[in-house]
Amino acid sequence: MGWFSKKDKNEDKTTAEVMESTVETVADEAAVSEDVSSEAAPEAKPEKQGFFKRLAMGLSKTRNNISDSWSNLFKANEIDEDFYEELEETLVMSDMGFETTERIIDDLKARVKEQHLKEASACKDLVVNIIRDQMAVDENAYDFEDKKTVVFVIGVNGVGKTTSIGKLAAIYKSRGKKVLLAAADTFRAAAIDQLKTWAERADVDIIAQGEGADPSAVVYDAVSSAKAKGTDILLVDTAGRLHNKKNLMDELAKMRRIISKEYPEATVESLIVLDGTTGQNALEQARQFSQVTDINGIIITKLDGTAKGGIAIAIQSELSVPVKYIGIGEKIEDLQRFDPGAYVTALFSDFDMKSDIEIIVDSDIQQIAPDDDLFDIE
Ligand code: GDP
Repeated sequence: MGWFSKKDKNEDKTTAEVMESTVETVADEAAVSEDVSSEAAPEAKPEKQGFFKRLAMGLSKTRNNISDSWSNLFKANEIDEDFYEELEETLVMSDMGFETTERIIDDLKARVKEQHLKEASACKDLVVNIIRDQMAVDENAYDFEDKKTVVFVIGVNGVGKTTSIGKLAAIYKSRGKKVLLAAADTFRAAAIDQLKTWAERADVDIIAQGEGADPSAVVYDAVSSAKAKGTDILLVDTAGRLHNKKNLMDELAKMRRIISKEYPEATVESLIVLDGTTGQNALEQARQFSQVTDINGIIITKLDGTAKGGIAIAIQSELSVPVKYIGIGEKIEDLQRFDPGAYVTALFSDFDMKSDIEIIVDSDIQQIAPDDDLFDIE
């Protein structure tokens, strides 16, 4: 049986407890996601923990990548230098990066010493808890969702910017918010058309001009419209041309100036979208964008297709910018708020999603069976 059923004697939460709270949190999120689009999710997902399962399934490549070394690691008898070295290799293999890995190991060493631990098996829950704590999202992180807000969505082409805007629009709309999109990536006609398609899908309004239009003019129009219509959340798609940093910086600054002048009551939130399959490159992009503009949060997409899901941990830990949403598929309901407990559990669990192994959550039994909605994902 996996380690979900095991209770550690140390004071930290056991994975079972993490899993338990995780399922509850994700259940709330899943309830939102189910409302998002009846079209995209025609067969309503009866299980409350649907998103967690899809997350765990999405991260299966990463889990498979590290699972052998991860489980062998804690079979070692003693906590010695070999143990720490192997742990380091395993974490780096999941693309957690050296800096983050070092930080985790230093923290573990301190806790091992403090709790006088001798056996490697006692470290499993500790490591998971350390990682989860590093990723904790501030409770004010989502306050912007309930204010008059302009959300700038930035990131290079192809990372999933348009798709994420469409998904966010659908989530906010399902919560009763008045949402407006602004197609300020006027560099490519395809980007404008694609955003229009997402506006239709999410059933929200959009302000767009032609290809080559001044992005600031689009933002200006969008702000006028937002004020006239009483919009709650204005989502702005921006062009992410990192090769021309100066232009990008000027363009983003100009758009922000329009907001402060024309819409000073609005909160400005700047989210960067990163493609989870690009591993350390994603981290580098985030670093470069943070040199040209303020970033309040991160959206990591395509976590369903990567063997390097540890990148989410590296990004948050190394940039000190919270991961706020994650994308685990192309459908409208495949974006959710980031839940560190769920993420870490999905990443390091040793359950096998393809079998009908049960995950025991203290007294609760959550069945992860092969014939459920997991396998209906297109
Ligand atoms: P943009 O150029 O940054 O606006 O990127 P798009 O939104 O057009 O997305 C690029 C491709 O990535 C599209 O084919 C999307 O369907 C796909 N995509 C976006 N998010 C996800 C995700 O979370 N998972 C998967 N598998 N694909 C995604």
